[in-house]
Amino acid sequence: MVSPTTHKRGVVLVADDDPVMRLLMIEMLGQVGLDGIEAEDGKQAVAYFQGMAPDLILLDVEMPNMDGFSACREIRRIETGAPVPIIMVTGGDDIEAVTSAYEAGATDFVSKPINWPILGHRVLYVLRASDAIVRLRMADAHNRAVLAAIPDTFFRLNRDGVYLDYEPGNEMQGHDAIAAFSVETCVGKHITEVLPRDIADRLLEQMRGVLDTLHVRSVDYELVRFGVIHHYEARLVATGASEVLGLVRDISERKRTEEQIRRLAYCDSLTGIPNRQAFLETLERELHRSKVGNKKFAVLFMDLDAFKRINDTLGHNVGDHLLKIVSERLRETTRPSDLVSRGDQSHNLARLGGDEFTILIPDLERVENALAVAHRVKEAMRRPFLIEGNEIFVTASIGISLFPEDGDDCNSLLKFADTAMYHAKNCGKNNAKLYSSSLTMQIMSHVKLEVGLRKALKNEELYLLYQPQIDVRTGDIVGVEALVRWRHPERGIISPTEFIPLAEETGLIVPIGEWVLRTACKQAMAWQRVAKRSLRMAVNLSAKQFKDENLTQIVVSALHDTGLDPRLLELELTEGTLMDDARATMATLEQLRGIGVHLSIDDFGTGYSSMNYLKRFDVRALKIDKSFISGLPQDSENAAITRAIIAMAHGLKMVVVAEGVETDAQLGLLQEYGCDLVQGFYLGHPSPHEAITQMLLQPCAEPTPTK
Ligand code: C2E
Ligand code: MG
Ligand code: MG
Repeated sequence: MVSPTTHKRGVVLVADDDPVMRLLMIEMLGQVGLDGIEAEDGKQAVAYFQGMAPDLILLDVEMPNMDGFSACREIRRIETGAPVPIIMVTGGDDIEAVTSAYEAGATDFVSKPINWPILGHRVLYVLRASDAIVRLRMADAHNRAVLAAIPDTFFRLNRDGVYLDYEPGNEMQGHDAIAAFSVETCVGKHITEVLPRDIADRLLEQMRGVLDTLHVRSVDYELVRFGVIHHYEARLVATGASEVLGLVRDISERKRTEEQIRRLAYCDSLTGIPNRQAFLETLERELHRSKVGNKKFAVLFMDLDAFKRINDTLGHNVGDHLLKIVSERLRETTRPSDLVSRGDQSHNLARLGGDEFTILIPDLERVENALAVAHRVKEAMRRPFLIEGNEIFVTASIGISLFPEDGDDCNSLLKFADTAMYHAKNCGKNNAKLYSSSLTMQIMSHVKLEVGLRKALKNEELYLLYQPQIDVRTGDIVGVEALVRWRHPERGIISPTEFIPLAEETGLIVPIGEWVLRTACKQAMAWQRVAKRSLRMAVNLSAKQFKDENLTQIVVSALHDTGLDPRLLELELTEGTLMDDARATMATLEQLRGIGVHLSIDDFGTGYSSMNYLKRFDVRALKIDKSFISGLPQDSENAAITRAIIAMAHGLKMVVVAEGVETDAQLGLLQEYGCDLVQGFYLGHPSPHEAITQMLLQPCAEPTPTK
């Protein structure tokens, strides 16, 4: 209730030709805190209204000059008169007067005789009601102004999905005037008659949610308008128990910007294919999908072999161009149709950076399928690349990790595929390797072995065995080959086939090789003293040692310090070592020849070398690899090869050594073929120096089989 004392005093215009009535009315109004202005007739009432703007008018029906009905109509015609509450004072039971009063625009009426104590309250009530209406009108005007100011389209829907209202937004008005969306086309229609069914259904569903929860919800959808796809966002808000207000905004521009940002963030700028970030996210999704669906997938990690060399020698432009073509070839190779049947595969290929690419193979049924893709990728890379007039040849090394076998998180899977790729590179490039948990074990033990190997020399865990080389014609020991062994404190004796590659990788081969050389030379001198015989000492050299620029110096000082005649030292090299870089090889060989040491080709026949070069390199001996000897004498093909090698070597004035002679029959055949020297278990196992000393002290003319 509004209290008369606290309320700002309202002003009531009282129009009655009867002064007593006016007096009484003013008095009663005063009781409820209202002030009164008196008018004697209708004309005066209209004039006073314009001048004084009262808050309410009490109009008697019957007045001279202008009656109440006419005055009421007059006031309503005035602009400020429309909202002012007007109470008509009618005669007794005059129903007709009541009807005329409303028709003239009255707000309410009181009938005579007036119930005086009620009058004041009645007036107050009408004032409050009209106040509320004014506020409502203002709020409505305000809302409409707000809606007009924002670019959104707005509509109201009832609970059944029928449009109650529709107001096209600024940016749509042009289109909507001619398009299907306007007040005329929408209001009164069901939403399914206006919008495509699927969109309408989504809006209806969300609308029900909004009405149930009273929370704002939004729906994104697309509409093709005038041939262009537009993206819209409709926000729905409940405006009552059964009505929803919708605000629709064209968010096409925002979508375009988002798409552009997404492209920048997820695309490799050089090749246009997805980048690392995109790949990681794809991988994350695939991981989840595969976990849920109990499926397998593979991650392929590809790295170009010798990409750096191309970049360095032909320039970055060529390098960049190459990467682009590589990514195109990869895209072709991993095209969805022949990879898997699932939808969008565009993110399954990515460039992580540099020359590193990854491929995701989802829904893997068999590991072989991943290997088949790897094979196709390798083949695709092998085709020559024609760039700026250069014909470029590259190969790729590929590592593969598998979910769930190898790991169950993205980082591990990617890391393991990378590890497997390195493994593939170490196995001779242009290779594809699977990562498997056993590979980790292998690497772990590799690392442990490396730590041990670093200490092996200092801890005197290395030692040499010597295997005799026998002259086929005389049966005499004419030389030995020094073969290194490692007595590992925990693992026992480790074969050089296991630790020499590791020593090569880590560079430890250089100090180890030097130790072997010195120890072997020293031993050769010791035998000279004890047995009074000169034995040729063969020492294996690995590729890394051969490339070491200090090699000549190391050989010279070993010979010098031990006093061994250089002609008694024979360095064994493999074909691969020699052919790697013919020009550098030539220079090193010349230096070694200058010292006076001999060279032989180890494991001959397993590699690839040109006879021409061997002749130029001035090689003293060829050691036929044991793989040719082991099948003899039954294996006629190997017999023919062995025979041919011997003949050819003799033609080039080279000595021939047969390795791995294990039987008498093999020895017999080699004798028949004219082989010069033999080495093998049949003639003597690699043995400690004491055992060789024993053999040297026994005078013998025939080959002495041991075991
Ligand atoms: P390699 O130089 O070809 O040495 C011959 C290998 O054949 C030796 O293996 C030897 O034990 C084995 N062998 C000898 N006779 C027979 C036979 O009748 N039948 C069979 N099946 N095998 C026979 P080992 O000692 O295990 O050495 C393996 C390889 O390790 C060597 O092959 C050589 O390449 C390398 N190596 C050994 N010592 C050294 C070294 O001090 N430095 C370097 N760089 N490499 C070495
Ligand atoms: Mg050898
Ligand atoms: Mg060999």
